[in-house]
Amino acid sequence: MPYTAPRMSTSTILISSTKFDGSPHYEYEAELLGCDGPLVICRIHAGVPWTGYRGSGLARYDSTALFFTDRWYNTQHFHEPYGEAQRRSYTNIGLPAVLEGGVLRWVDLDLDVMEDRDRTWVDDEDEFEEHRARMGYPDDIVAGALAARDEVLRLATTGAFPFDRASHVPPLVR
Ligand SMILES: [Mg+2]
Repeated sequence: MPYTAPRMSTSTILISSTKFDGSPHYEYEAELLGCDGPLVICRIHAGVPWTGYRGSGLARYDSTALFFTDRWYNTQHFHEPYGEAQRRSYTNIGLPAVLEGGVLRWVDLDLDVMEDRDRTWVDDEDEFEEHRARMGYPDDIVAGALAARDEVLRLATTGAFPFDRASHVPPLVR
């Protein structure tokens, strides 16, 4: 699918995520590009400050993030592939997002799916197992997270929405 620019709006929202036990995951501001039913589209600008459980810093790359109020994942498409692996997209498995009063909240469940130049793969399965035990994820949370992981892998390997990255990132201008 060719890229179609989202309807532009200028509102800034705070993206705030926690771990399952309520401890901080990440917080940063993003530009809300639009909402379409359960889909919330944001632009994360390189240079925006973030704070999180690993400290704080500045976003290194421009990306477009797609959050859902009815899916157990969100995905971030980098406008330009980066690094040795040429990372294109990063998907967090987590509870569905809630957008309210300018804050988009979601709960991270550790599992991540990476899309690199030559492979799509699951990261942090060890962290998922560790937190599942330590934070006591209920069975339905574990089942939901694993089903989301499988759905993401299935959709991402075929390039189906929302993993049709080219439809969401601006064309590269060089
Ligand atoms: Mg994650």
